[in-house]
Amino acid sequence: MTAGRQTEGGTSLRCARSDFGGVAGNLTLLAALPIGTAYLYFCARFNDGRFIPGPGADLGAFAESLAPSWETAAVYLAWLAFQALLQAFAPGPTVEGTPLEDGTRLRYRMNGRSSLLITAGAFGAGVGSGLFPLRWIYDQFGELISVVTLFSYLFALFLLIYGRASEPDRKPRGVIIDYFLGVARHPRIPPVTGFDLKVFFEARPGLIGWLLVVVSFAAVQIERHGSVSTSMAVVCALQLVYVLDYFWHEPAILTTLDVQHEKFGWMLIFGDLVWVPMTYSLQAHYLIDHSPRLPIWAAALCVLLGLAGMTLFRLSNLQKHRFRSDPNGLQIWGKPAEFLETRHGNRLLVSGFWGWSRHSNYLGDWLLGLAWSLACGFGSLLPYFYPIYFAFLLMHRERRDHQRCAAKYGEDWDRYCRRVRWRIVPGLY
Ligand code: NDP
Repeated sequence: MTAGRQTEGGTSLRCARSDFGGVAGNLTLLAALPIGTAYLYFCARFNDGRFIPGPGADLGAFAESLAPSWETAAVYLAWLAFQALLQAFAPGPTVEGTPLEDGTRLRYRMNGRSSLLITAGAFGAGVGSGLFPLRWIYDQFGELISVVTLFSYLFALFLLIYGRASEPDRKPRGVIIDYFLGVARHPRIPPVTGFDLKVFFEARPGLIGWLLVVVSFAAVQIERHGSVSTSMAVVCALQLVYVLDYFWHEPAILTTLDVQHEKFGWMLIFGDLVWVPMTYSLQAHYLIDHSPRLPIWAAALCVLLGLAGMTLFRLSNLQKHRFRSDPNGLQIWGKPAEFLETRHGNRLLVSGFWGWSRHSNYLGDWLLGLAWSLACGFGSLLPYFYPIYFAFLLMHRERRDHQRCAAKYGEDWDRYCRRVRWRIVPGLY
């Protein structure tokens, strides 16, 4: 295995050190995020969908359900192996990523659509034949949290060793920071196949896994209550659209912060494998046994809000992706794209959604998440965990990106910020 090497500039090193509170912050998050994931599961399953433990909270059953088993570990490893085989061999185009610091470009196999279809077929066949009961994911959810969390700790150790071995000349950082934030930016097996570990884990096992989790939760609702509630249908449909959209526009991932700039360490692997499927499914988890009265007009409003957020999210990401992939002759809203030249050489788009705010894509993403929560009614704060946490994540992310871009583009970034004044929400923030 070899890494796609990129020399580490002083700037990114300086930003990385201060990211997430240094060693103390990294250690805290290494413990707090897995505990938080388990706690949300406890609230949804053993505490009647409430945040604060009530009299009926079943702590014993909760603790018991978290004990990992070999069977669950084996199923999860088989799932990873299946997704890895699809990434390596399923049909799909190979495209080039953005230029690295040395001017070369890595190649990426974009076969997410066919992988998703094959997975859906295999899952359907497994369920239809009785080999894989739909409620297995629901039944083993606690075990899955433990197994996948353990896997992410181990895999991050592998990434640390691999990254340090593949980049022996870089300036040393502490082991905790290297473990948490990662060392290699583009670890690959091997480079010719276009099998990029970070891009693979960013989407395949976790994002497709998230869909299977919500399908399993909806199936348990049917089993227990005889039908799928309107709220559950709205949440599942909007989340399905979100995941399908990702695979429909898969190459757009190549111009994101995670793929271009972030290194691959525990933070990303835990986020991709545990946090996304286990906590983004919280609304569906809550809804299994809670059916708020959602009139059709309210359901329609949730769907409209979700689709509006989705449209803003996708179109703004696509505008930047197309601009960065091939800016020549690009038209945005019927006019040639406007941009600022920088001394660094990169151009910064300032028209379309990128003229509204510096991250309209974040706003669209957040609105979509809010729609999932609103569909759950107002009986509990638990389904609102996602938009609350996500607002903080996006504001923190925007600040990190701003700090990195300010260091990279210098005065040109100041010029850009004067031209595009708002950070995320036009007129507000
Ligand atoms: P962006 O896709 O906005 O990428 C930021 C990078 O784009 C910057 O670092 C900069 O890189 C470049 N850039 C910034 N401004 C401009 C401009 N005006 N013109 C051209 N290039 C520019 O950020 P993210 O990767 O954070 O987000 C991508 C999507 O993923 C978002 O929609 C976000 O909501 C979503 N997301 C979802 C998460 C979830 O858990 N659901 C978590 C994180 C993100 P350069 O150095 O190349 O100039």
